[in-house]
Amino acid sequence: MAESMKGLHRTCRCAEVTREMTGQTVTLMGWVQKARNKGGIVFVDLRDRSGIMQLIFEDGSVSSEDFAKAGKLRSEFVIAVTGIVEKRGGAVNANLATGEIELRVQSLRVLSEADVIPFPIEENSKTRDEVRLKYRYLDLRRPDLQKKLMLRSRVATLTRQFFAEEGFLEIETPMLGKSTPEGARDYLVPSRVHPGCFYGLPQSPQLFKQLLMCSGFDRYIQLARCFRDEDLRADRQPEFTQIDMELSFVDVDDVIDVNERFLKYLFKNVLDVDVQLPIQRITWQEAMDRFGSDKPDMRFGMELHDVSDIVRSSSFAVFANALAAGGSVRGINAKGQGSMPRKKIDKLVEFAKGYGAKGLAYIAIAEDGSRKSSFAKFMTEEELDALVSAMEGEPGDLLLFAADRQKLVYDVLGALRLELAKEMDLLDKNEFRFVWVTEFPLLEWSDEENRFTAMHHPFTMPMEEDLALIDSDPGKVRAKAYDIVLNGNEIGGGSVRIHQDDIQEKMFEVLGFTPESAHEQFGFLLDAFRYGVPPHAGLAYGLDRLVMLMAGADTIRDVIAFPKVKDASCLMTDSPSVVDTKQLAELHLAVKEETT
Ligand code: ASP
Repeated sequence: MAESMKGLHRTCRCAEVTREMTGQTVTLMGWVQKARNKGGIVFVDLRDRSGIMQLIFEDGSVSSEDFAKAGKLRSEFVIAVTGIVEKRGGAVNANLATGEIELRVQSLRVLSEADVIPFPIEENSKTRDEVRLKYRYLDLRRPDLQKKLMLRSRVATLTRQFFAEEGFLEIETPMLGKSTPEGARDYLVPSRVHPGCFYGLPQSPQLFKQLLMCSGFDRYIQLARCFRDEDLRADRQPEFTQIDMELSFVDVDDVIDVNERFLKYLFKNVLDVDVQLPIQRITWQEAMDRFGSDKPDMRFGMELHDVSDIVRSSSFAVFANALAAGGSVRGINAKGQGSMPRKKIDKLVEFAKGYGAKGLAYIAIAEDGSRKSSFAKFMTEEELDALVSAMEGEPGDLLLFAADRQKLVYDVLGALRLELAKEMDLLDKNEFRFVWVTEFPLLEWSDEENRFTAMHHPFTMPMEEDLALIDSDPGKVRAKAYDIVLNGNEIGGGSVRIHQDDIQEKMFEVLGFTPESAHEQFGFLLDAFRYGVPPHAGLAYGLDRLVMLMAGADTIRDVIAFPKVKDASCLMTDSPSVVDTKQLAELHLAVKEETT
């Protein structure tokens, strides 16, 4: 029977009771983790979000009525107890913050009973994901998930605090906005009042935050919910949260400066980790050349070496063909892996093929200096010597080479480098290595659309020194765009924006917009720029990913209270769901029969 808590006040949480409070009377409320009835004595582990407190019910210390109730307690009953803090009579539990004390209960109320739960509430649950997500409210009772969401809350609080002290204003931008086809697919919301018209949910507050700069707010911050209707790749969510900011009268260095201080403050206060400033900066080109990735993991070396010039005259057709087609030959040195069994090497070759490589060439150097290679017969001894020395190969090393188009070589070796690091156990979750990647290309060529698309977005400012190339060689133009990367994850990115209309017009032209189509989509922003626009720049972090890394979680689902699964559905609420025809009619919509 459920009792009320009338007249009762919780004095503190379970794990807030300390040894120093011995002898004091406290009132605790929470869930029964475990109840053990030993005849004349009942032990209960009481759980709340702070932790666990052991309760002891003894006939005589509690009324016989309460003692009888205690005997019937089962897991997940919600109870309130008042009692006296005592030193533990039995063995001390070193695993608990409250392991040296217990509460001798004087009175008990059962606030609600609970059915038998579908899985135990415990750390590192082995329960299947689908079951956990269906009963997410129970899953969220698990201490490890509670800790992660508490960490998330702390990150949000500290973020607001830091930026408020730096003079940023928190301003909300609309959820119901204008759909723009640029970028990912929008989620649409049909308008009831305007038949046939739709709002788009924001993919980011980009245009609104730029308008706020036009309005003179100068420094804006928002923890903004964003929506992208993409086919979900691993560990993406259709809705996610950004720490979104925009600043006026600034250039790249100003944005980087305030964000470095933010990261230092955040990591110190949440994890007691010291971030060394300044954070290293490398250009996009350098990141690609050295790590084969625009989000390099800097916790380990194993950098790429360009050996194109060394193998240029070799008779190995794979190398020669790649070079003749304007590609490159690059390699990585997996230190100490020279005795990797053939089967494992074959697996790496398969892995590389997954990234589009036709194969991988290798040289394995044995401890005695002898070499085994997949392509030795096409090379002279001198050529091999030169190759090994360019790769800094030593006895015991495994050298792996890819030869193809530039981009493919980067992709393959970048991925291989990470795969080998995992295998060689080079990745320490407790090490946090940041790097800024700057000077991204402004544009990237889309084979699909047969035109350039903006690498960041159409409002990103080209580097002044490259402006002259925008007509002659647009693919070479670098942008004032930057990403902040942590342990191989892009945790944030942004850019200086274009505020000069001639440059913006040029940019639209390169992207294939006509003046009319640009105006149709972004007219309000372009209009606003006509009335006095300050130079401005900004950045947005992916809060979910940042918190995931800080919490040492393996998936962003663990740091989102109610996440969706890969097909964008929610297993708990069963959304999305069919709506009734009346609702559809009000929205001037009809659902087409799928004829598949
Ligand atoms: N709006 C951008 C994004 O979502 C970030 C920025 O440029 O501030 O990636």
